[in-house]
Order: sequence, then structure tokens, then C-alpha cells
Amino acid sequence: MNHVRLAIIGSGPAGLTAAIYAARGNLEPVLFEGVEAGGQLTTTTEVENYPGFPQGIQGPELMEAFRQQAERFGTKFVRGDVLEVDLSRRPFVIRFHDGEYLADAIIISTGARSKLLGLENEKKLIGRGVSTCATCDGFFFRGQEIAVVGGGDSAVEEANFLSKFALKVHLLHRRDKLRASKIMQDRLFLNPRVQVHWNRVVHEILADEQGLLRGVTLQDPRDGALSDLKVNGLFVAIGHVPNTTLFRGKIDLDENGYILLNGRGTQTNVEGVFASGDVADHVYRQAVTAAGTGCQAAIDAERWLESQNHSSH
Ligand code: NAP
Repeated sequence: MNHVRLAIIGSGPAGLTAAIYAARGNLEPVLFEGVEAGGQLTTTTEVENYPGFPQGIQGPELMEAFRQQAERFGTKFVRGDVLEVDLSRRPFVIRFHDGEYLADAIIISTGARSKLLGLENEKKLIGRGVSTCATCDGFFFRGQEIAVVGGGDSAVEEANFLSKFALKVHLLHRRDKLRASKIMQDRLFLNPRVQVHWNRVVHEILADEQGLLRGVTLQDPRDGALSDLKVNGLFVAIGHVPNTTLFRGKIDLDENGYILLNGRGTQTNVEGVFASGDVADHVYRQAVTAAGTGCQAAIDAERWLESQNHSSH
């Protein structure tokens, strides 16, 4: 049986930063990197807002650099999804396809994923006109017409944000009332560059011969009527889902499934279990903030392990 001091679950910016710090702190971390290693950045193209890369960097390349840095200091990587965790006893138990690991401390960095509409073409066109991140991709649509799907705070915030770049933003909402907070709605309605399309669902996502987005077909759910809208960008902002299925009933989660932290640190309600990155953050959701909290989690875990006299095995 493998007994490790620190297990890190998740291999996005949060998990890998936690690994860099923990490895440099001689904790010999084992990182469970999941089947889709690298997290959300591996499905983006150009990242222009990660500090230190003035010319921008490709998302997968950035994650590979994080990984190499974690490996250089001795992080051990395990590929594949964790099947089950037992947090009710210490050391904690992590069940994996080829056996069990015992861990004195755990950092959870399993991230979140954007909800998608589930339409044909949608995944294929991510990075080719379809996006789930206005902060990341808005800049590429300078002077163009784009659409945002959704009626919550995210969609309204993104529509307002994108109107700074785009010629025109079409907000597509499936009902006749927004879910977003009043103040955000007021700002939206005053924005001359945003047009709200009420009672519209995206029926089809259209691509041109080069495989780039050329528009959407909309449907009025009341009578089924179809209409086309020409746009170069489609931002899907219908919410996020944290990857916390593994931890349901084992750790305190908020009503949307995000991990709840105690105070300002990264400690969860289970002593010895820490969380960092998007899995515990529905507000900022940036690579750089995820990396920052990954660093915090490693420091918190190291101090906690020291206090438990686990630091010398
Ligand atoms: P949300 O509040 O769950 O809203 C999702 C929106 O997408 C809803 O309007 C929903 O329509 C629509 N939607 C869901 N599935 C859809 C589908 N399949 N097709 C078409 N439309 C669909 O999610 P969110 O906007 O991401 O916000 C999540 C949380 O973060 C909220 O608590 C929010 O307040 C918070 N947040 C806060 C800020 C801020 O304060 N600055 C910014 C962003 C997010 P219906 O309305 O018809 O259900």
C-alpha cells in the first residue's frame, strides 16, 4: 500500500502550483492528474492574460510548463481518475483503479467545467468562434458581432464586458425575464451596444467552410419559429459545475456544489483536507487566481502536517 504525506487531486493551475510548492517543501506530493490532465486551459487556445507571457502562450503549452516545473522538484504523477475517497479516517484513503493510496493530507483541485448547450458543432468550434470565457477570448472579437447565451449574472456580466470590444453584442435568453441581479440588469439595459433577444434558444450552431463560426439558428420556444443570426462569436454563459461528485456527503459544499472553505485559508471543514482553484471559487475562476490558491493550499498543508508531526516519515 502506498502511504504518502500529501496527495493532490487535479492537474490544472491550482493542483500543479500546489505540487510545485509542496515538492519544494520536501513533502514528496503525489498528484492524481485525472484522465483529462491539465484542466480547462488545455481546451483553450491563446492565453494572453497570464502574467509573465507578454506575447501570450497557448493554454496546453502553459500547462505543460507547469507540469514540468512540478516534476522537476519531485512530484510523482498518477494518471487516471480517482474512484473514491474516504475522508472519515486518517490517513485518508484514495481509491484508484490499480489500488489504494493512504494520504496524511489532501489538496483538492479538481476544478469546474462550463456548462455547454449540448449542441452539435459546439465542442468542435471551441476556439473557432465558440467560447466559454469572455475574459479569455473577448479581445479576439474586436469590432465584430457576437452573441452571449444565458440570463444569469455571468451572461449579463459577459455581455457588458464584451461590449467594450465588440461592435454589437446579442444577448440570447430562453425566457422573457433575466435571472441576473437588478443592478447588473440596469447596467445592461443602458448599454447601447447590447441587444437582448427574449424567448430565444440556440437551435443550431453554424460553421462556414473553414470550420469557423458563422452564426446561429434561434428558436422561439413559444411557437417553434426559427430565425438566423449572423455572429462571429458565441459565448456560452449558462453557468459552471464544480467537479465535486467524489466529495458529496464527505465535505461541506455550498448549494451549487462548490467546496466551502474555513475563513481566508484553504482549509475545508475536514481537518487535513484543503481545496484550491475553481472547485472552491465561483467568483474569479482565472488561471492566475487558481495558481495563487494552489500555492496557499500547499503552504497550509505543509504547516498543518508539521503541526501533526507528520513532516518526518
Ligand atoms: P446561473 O445563475 O445559474 O444562470 C444561468 C443562466 O443560464 C440562467 O439565466 C438560465 O436560464 C440559463 N441557462 C441555463 N441552462 C441553459 C440552457 N441549456 N440553455 C439556455 N439557457 C440556459 O449561472 P451564472 O450566471 O453563471 O451564475 C452562477 C452564480 O455566480 C450565481 O450565484 C451568480 O450570482 C454568481 N455570479 C456573480 C457575479 C457577480 O456578482 N459579478 C458574476 C457571475 C456570476 P433561466 O434563467 O431560464 O434558468
